[in-house]
Amino acid sequence: AVRVRFAPSPTGSFHVGSARTALFNWLFARHHGGTFLLRIEDTDAERNREDWVGGILDALAWLGLEPDEAPVRQSAMVERHQEAIDRLLRAGLLYACDCRREDVEARKPPGTPPGYDGHCRDRGLEPGPGRVLRFKVPDAGEVVVEDVVRGTVRFPLAAIEDFAVVKSTGQPLFVLANVVDDLAMGISHVVRGEDLLPSTPKQVLLWGALAGPARPLPIYAHLPMLVNEKRQKLSKRRDPVAVEQYRAEGYLPEAFVNYLALLGWSHPSGRELLSREELVAAFRLEDVNHAPAFFDVQKLRHLNGEHLRRLPLGAFVEACRPYLTPPSAPWPAERFDPAVFEAMAPLVQERVAVLSEVPGMVDFLFLPDPPLEAAAWAQVVADPLTPAILGGALEAYADCPFEPEALHQATAALAESLGRKLGKAQAPIRVAVTGRRVGPPLFESLALLGREETLRRLRTAQA
Ligand code: GLU
Repeated sequence: AVRVRFAPSPTGSFHVGSARTALFNWLFARHHGGTFLLRIEDTDAERNREDWVGGILDALAWLGLEPDEAPVRQSAMVERHQEAIDRLLRAGLLYACDCRREDVEARKPPGTPPGYDGHCRDRGLEPGPGRVLRFKVPDAGEVVVEDVVRGTVRFPLAAIEDFAVVKSTGQPLFVLANVVDDLAMGISHVVRGEDLLPSTPKQVLLWGALAGPARPLPIYAHLPMLVNEKRQKLSKRRDPVAVEQYRAEGYLPEAFVNYLALLGWSHPSGRELLSREELVAAFRLEDVNHAPAFFDVQKLRHLNGEHLRRLPLGAFVEACRPYLTPPSAPWPAERFDPAVFEAMAPLVQERVAVLSEVPGMVDFLFLPDPPLEAAAWAQVVADPLTPAILGGALEAYADCPFEPEALHQATAALAESLGRKLGKAQAPIRVAVTGRRVGPPLFESLALLGREETLRRLRTAQA
């Protein structure tokens, strides 16, 4: 049976790469009717923080990737880690080492590969405080990993140092705790980021030493790394990688999941706009590509817009709601009129890519005096026809029926009398009334704003 786990270390805010790993595990489990587990790898007390654990749980809940069993805290599993260490010691597979890094470096002839030189292997030191425990890596042979994504990967053992499995404080290291827990949790497939490929041969050795013949190795699948537009590995410092930030900007979880699924995988049909059900039905680890995947925010935005447009109107309005009150919205709460917003919502829904853009599209309806965008206003001022357009609009709008079609006709007639295309003639009116050069369709906007307020703003702009 398929049993997979997502095993994040809570060492920072939840990263899009981690979300992709969680999703691929989840999709794989769902596709096979398997079990998706969450293990928080929180043994490194210096680097872990409790609010980062909370961030992981929140993000997974938001994305709809909740585990099928209660999350496991690695830090609560020290007994089974200790038991494994004792077994390895008894089997003579570990040795204590008190070498300092400088000593190792000083001993090594120039040109030897990096890593530990095996100095303490035969010294027979007693394990104890101040001494790490190292695993005796056989000198010859190789570890062959059949990775679902990377294919056959060979690791000559001569290139693998006697790696530490327990710190000098007695605390087990990731490489060991991870294997012990995968064994204990009955993990069948290890699906994780490519950055962990180098630890895989060590973990294969540990698995072999701890598991016994009844427990074959898990099947490994190392997911391609994520890169930015310059093909650099995504980095916390350089790139926008925090899932929380995308959530705050108004991405829908369904769109985010859809986009993450395309980072290294594609649907056999080539279609990109996919529902969660379609992803589950089609997802295969065998189809994951090993080339680095470009995290393309523009594409993510585009997909989000597509998902927003597919929402029923009521659901769209509901999704907008958190953005329609201060501090997300720039207007005072008491000036917001839900009926006016709902009338505008279909036009907004057609145009918006992320929900945090919604207030900027409708603020002219709820702000007493929407601020004029400086660049837009400068263009209007520079246009010699502006006075004629604003004056003509004031006159025409004073007595035409105040609904979109009539406003359209009145404005078209005005544009024609001035020898200008309607689209261009609208610009000064739009800026004067909404403060911006772009926005929802103008005549619907004016109709919703009402005659009195439209005329007032046109007059103010004229002055
Ligand atoms: N805790 C490890 C990490 O966050 C992942 C381990 C794994 O998936 O095997 O890098």
